Formats: sequence, structure tokens, C-alpha cells
Amino acid sequence: MEFRTGQLKLDDLYGPRTLDELRESMAGCRACGLAAGRTNLVFGEGNPRARLMLIGEGPGAEEDRLGRPFVGPAGQLLDKILAAVGITREEVYIANIVKCRPPGNRVPNREEVSACLPWLRKQFALIGPPLVVILGSTALKSLIDPQAAITSWRGRWITRGRVRLMPTYHPAALLRDPRKKRDVWHDFQLVRDAYRALVPLGKE
Ligand code: SF4
Repeated sequence: MEFRTGQLKLDDLYGPRTLDELRESMAGCRACGLAAGRTNLVFGEGNPRARLMLIGEGPGAEEDRLGRPFVGPAGQLLDKILAAVGITREEVYIANIVKCRPPGNRVPNREEVSACLPWLRKQFALIGPPLVVILGSTALKSLIDPQAAITSWRGRWITRGRVRLMPTYHPAALLRDPRKKRDVWHDFQLVRDAYRALVPLGKE
């Protein structure tokens, strides 16, 4: 899968051979203005050999405080959605487009996304998941097409090389508008079917 490039040092990107090494390289990153406001950089977490990766927008207040992705109210809802389709959080890998919290939870701007995407690209390359869930508009625009609208792209697989990506609403959008739950349930059933074709139940 192709990601647009930013302005990080090549040594940082190409040196690390494991997620732990990448985390070390990233620890002091100041490649964009979001570094100034962070409490913790939120690297991402989960199974380093995950067959399914979920990519959201950026850390919120609770994620910034704890340095972990999707641990606030939206994260708790995501856990419930995964549980409803029989997938545990430990099986998958969860990360965000930007690793540092935008002030006031605003949407990260184009420069911030562009600066941070190379980290995600490296993270993605080290994990190598064949399936990706794109959580929300910012992740969709950043990964697929700046003009893409989540309302029209969600619920259909996108194929990029050997990777299949499923856009759906971000759980935070569900908290704001519970009417979106039906669509997300539909989308995650497709994800479950594709995932179980790769990882049969009991072989996690
Ligand atoms: S958001 Fe990404 S690029 Fe910006 S400082 Fe944090 S880790 Fe670096």
C-alpha cells in the first residue's frame, strides 16, 4: 500500500527492524507542531503479527494521558464492536494517522498528517496486515483520497496491492450519532468474514 511521504530522517524510517525499535526512533519526534502539546506520544499497540489493523485519526485526551490508542469512550465502543464480531483487541493492531494529540481534539491538518504518515507507513510495513479497517473520514482522506467522503466510501472493500481496506465510521461518530450503528455493524460483519477466512476461529 502506498502512503504519501513526509519529512522524517531516513535513518529513523529505514533503520528500525522491529516495532520496538520503531517506537524508540519515534519517541522524540518533533516533525510537526503537535509535539508541543502532547503529554505522551501514542505509538499504537496490539499484535505485532496482526492480520487486521485498525487505523483511526489521532489520540484524544485519555489516549494522550495514557499513551495508548483508543482507550477513551470511543475506544471502549470499538472494543464492544470488535467483541460483537468475535475479534479480540489482542488479535489486532490499532494505530492512528497522527501519533500526538491535536489541541482540543481538532482534526489534524494536512502538514501534520503529511509529517506523521511515514511513521505509519513503516509501522504498517513491519506488521504487514492483509486487512485494514479505516476508521473515519480523516484516515480515509489521508490513506486513500483527500476528496473521499466516508459516507459514500464506507462499507465497500478497497484493494491496494495485496491489502484490502474497509472504510467505516469512526466510533466517536457513533457516539455523536447512534443512527450510524447499523452501517458500522454491516461493515464489521464484512470485516469479520474476511478476517475469519484468513484466521479461522481457534487459530488466532
Ligand atoms: S504527530 Fe507524528 S509527526 Fe507530529 S510530532 Fe507527533 S509523532 Fe511526530
